[in-house]
Amino acid sequence: MFTPPSFEQIKQIAAQIDCNRIYGHLIANEWVDGESGVVIELMNPATRGIVGKIQAGNAYDVDRAVRAARDAFPGWARTDALERQRILLEIAARLRKRHAEFAVMESLNNGKTFVEGFLDVQNAIEQFEYYAGHTHLKGEVLDFPNTMALTHREPIGVVAQIIPWNVPLLMAAIKLGPALAAGCTVVLKPAETVCLSVLALAGELADILPKGVVNVVTGYGSDVGERLVTHPDVRKVSFTGSRATAQKIISYASRSIIPQTMELGGKSANIICEDADLDAAAESVVMSTVINKGEVCLAGSRVFVHRHVRDLFLEKVTQLLGHIRYGNPLDPATQIGAVSSQVQFDRVMNYIESGKREGAQVAFGGSRAVVPDLADGLFIQPTLFTGVQRDMTIFREEIFGPVTSVIDWDDEADMIAAANDSIYGLAGGVWTRNLTKAHHIARSLDTGTVWVNRYYNTRPGMALGGNKQSGFGRENTHEALSHYTQLKSVVINFQEGPIGLFAPPPSAL
Ligand code: NAD
Repeated sequence: MFTPPSFEQIKQIAAQIDCNRIYGHLIANEWVDGESGVVIELMNPATRGIVGKIQAGNAYDVDRAVRAARDAFPGWARTDALERQRILLEIAARLRKRHAEFAVMESLNNGKTFVEGFLDVQNAIEQFEYYAGHTHLKGEVLDFPNTMALTHREPIGVVAQIIPWNVPLLMAAIKLGPALAAGCTVVLKPAETVCLSVLALAGELADILPKGVVNVVTGYGSDVGERLVTHPDVRKVSFTGSRATAQKIISYASRSIIPQTMELGGKSANIICEDADLDAAAESVVMSTVINKGEVCLAGSRVFVHRHVRDLFLEKVTQLLGHIRYGNPLDPATQIGAVSSQVQFDRVMNYIESGKREGAQVAFGGSRAVVPDLADGLFIQPTLFTGVQRDMTIFREEIFGPVTSVIDWDDEADMIAAANDSIYGLAGGVWTRNLTKAHHIARSLDTGTVWVNRYYNTRPGMALGGNKQSGFGRENTHEALSHYTQLKSVVINFQEGPIGLFAPPPSAL
């Protein structure tokens, strides 16, 4: 745990942020206006005030950014591994120096609480520190009689990175860390609704990195994305976001046949067995519903609770939910923030209505929340549905909001089948004191991660990523470098003279 600054101190930091600033694209370490002349307003969803403006980028802007990244690539790819390590550590140090300020930016633009923002910044710092330890690209030597093969891991080139709005700074760090460690240059496109912190990071990068190594182009996905992914000089795309956008990006990437990594949505199962530590498990359900207002791809949004402990468990969960504190997200006492945008607010409320319509029972919440002094804020009560059936929309679709569905079970095989009955396969949790059972259930879940007896228990180095339509490729691990590099084999022959395959016949001699 950490001691956050006081609300007064946080408000002072927030007052220093220039909400009238019009940010440019960052290209070759310069802030440049977009060609379209159009800007997009960034909103604070807790107040609906404007916190800054960004360029609505277009193909022309993308071309400039890719050119800068292409020109920077040969030099950056050849930097000494220790130099890349020093630079990654310097980025982490810059973030640490402005830790509270970055947390305020995350809160102001995304609506999350300051405390959540603070933890996100901590995680972002750790990403850069972690990848600083992985800048040496390692190959192999293979010995054969008279031949030796060397495999070299080489940076792939200019990469396009496209990120969402839920944890923007952390997403930028998860993407930039391995790309920079590997020696790639980058054009990063943050989400058009939430990117204040990413632009502040870009300002720091311009001061640290050689020009053109990281370029940031802002704007709407449809205006920027297609040109970025199909640009002939872009050699790879790494995307985090929704399935629908992923389908488009995969089709763009097919044009120039570039590799992709996809970190998409989830509908993860949090499984409570009869012998679980019910207090800890109840806390995990509350955490998953409330943290970042449920706008977390890994959220355990389907809770499977054993019938024998169901009532007691629900009592514990609803009691905890009853004490969640609403308020100004900047106040360190506030425990749930505002939903990130009007679009997302409407989407989540529609899902809540569909749950009611399709016959699930609201065990907690189920409505908009009105926060004193923030009457216009986009707040939603943490919401718990019981009586959820496998054919209901709220069981099947990712809501990406503070809404959790509870399903009872008593037969383990049926429960596992229901947990796996999803197009997604991102994560999951199991709560039991029986490690054999935990192991069996964990191995039976078709997901990229399973946490046993603590949800969201993740440290840098533990691979994250999805099975099925949650995507492909892994991040948060040194193995992510394999997505930003390609292997070259250099094969050396030590046997002198021709092989003799085409020697003239003896009669010709
Ligand atoms: P989104 O797909 O709408 O947008 C993500 C990014 O893609 C944004 O920058 C957007 O501008 C851009 N984009 C939109 N259309 C594009 C196009 N045609 N071409 C190129 N880029 C385009 O997703 P979102 O609503 O911002 O994010 C929520 C989704 O992200 C959820 O499904 C969530 O689960 C997922 N997510 C996954 C992870 C993970 O690690 N698996 C992490 C966070 C979020």
